Amino acid sequence: MSQFPLHRPTWAEISLSALIENYRTLKRQLTGNAQLIAVVKANAYGHGAVECARALAEAGADWFGVALVEEAVELRQAGIKRPVFCLGGFWRTQGELILAHELTPALFRMDLAEELNARATEAGRIVNFHLKVDTGMGRLGVPFSNLIEFARALKQFDHLKLDGVMTHFADADGIETDYTESQIRRFEESVVMLRELGFQPTWRQAANSAGLHAFPNSHGNLARAGAAMYGLTRDVLSPRLTAPPLHPVMALKSRIVMLKTVPAGTSLGYGCSFTTKRESRIATLPVGYADGFRRTLSNKGRVIVRGQFAPIVGRVSMDLTMVDVTDVSGVQLGDEATLLGKQDNLKIVAEDLAEQIGTISYEIVTGISARVPRQYIPA
Ligand SMILES: *Cc1c(COP(=O)(O)O)cnc(C)c1O
Repeated sequence: MSQFPLHRPTWAEISLSALIENYRTLKRQLTGNAQLIAVVKANAYGHGAVECARALAEAGADWFGVALVEEAVELRQAGIKRPVFCLGGFWRTQGELILAHELTPALFRMDLAEELNARATEAGRIVNFHLKVDTGMGRLGVPFSNLIEFARALKQFDHLKLDGVMTHFADADGIETDYTESQIRRFEESVVMLRELGFQPTWRQAANSAGLHAFPNSHGNLARAGAAMYGLTRDVLSPRLTAPPLHPVMALKSRIVMLKTVPAGTSLGYGCSFTTKRESRIATLPVGYADGFRRTLSNKGRVIVRGQFAPIVGRVSMDLTMVDVTDVSGVQLGDEATLLGKQDNLKIVAEDLAEQIGTISYEIVTGISARVPRQYIPA
């Protein structure tokens, strides 16, 4: 049964033991004694940032990574004491939050260095940051070609400490390795140049899930894992190499709230996009695109009921979805439907849904909306 007696029967199950096991599996893959940042941005990719971070902290996770300062503050307010790295840096007005919550930001803009230095000076504190170098992603970071000039200018800020160097890969999950290897070479050159300028960065971090998997020479002494830690693999890790044994952390479930037999020729749902070709048993599930069960799955996706696949028929609507259960023997009102996860011998993973609608598994799990309650299965 759903653990939410007052809630409609649609919920996500989050396996904290799978999460912790995945973290440990990934950490074991690291070369040397590299540490691992558990990336819990975007509400831990939809899995629940506070609950996931608490379980990971309990299991000894080294660092946490978030995109936004807001997300870091949420972790601190929930009692997370481990280092928190802000992958996307910070917004101008957030310097005081960096100080107040002892966060470690990525830094790549001179005006923000100046701002953070001013706040640190006022507080009489030294703030550690990791310099983000753009070695080929082209999104955030000091362009590799400007690095020396930028680093020299940083010397004027005596309340900032360049305690790490980071970069981010554009294509570590690809088939070809050349582009990533060129990013790794630029990253290594960056570290050398910074040391020659007198900086002594403690941390060198480059690898995301895909880099961690396919480029052991990119591990530095700190790697960052998001997707793989949540058990996403097929569209995350390079197909060149076999994936380590990682387990999906999220399952999505619902129950049949309407069950009926309709004659052949019955139209189902908005736009009359599906008409039954035979007498059919049609089940309605209280889940729709407002829950993150994507409308583009209309007439395409499937769910598992009583250990059998049941295809989605008609349009997925905001709150409701219909499935054809004609071939599911013994189907009853109230039966559980697995939209994501395992049931008996069948499973549907986020990568399957993503493939059906032309996106990646990241977008599937981060898209499961706030109105779907998360049920945490303890570690
Ligand atoms: C999100 C993010 C990661 C984590 O990437 P995964 O592919 O989910 O492991 C790592 N580094 C940066 C800079 C990110 O933005």
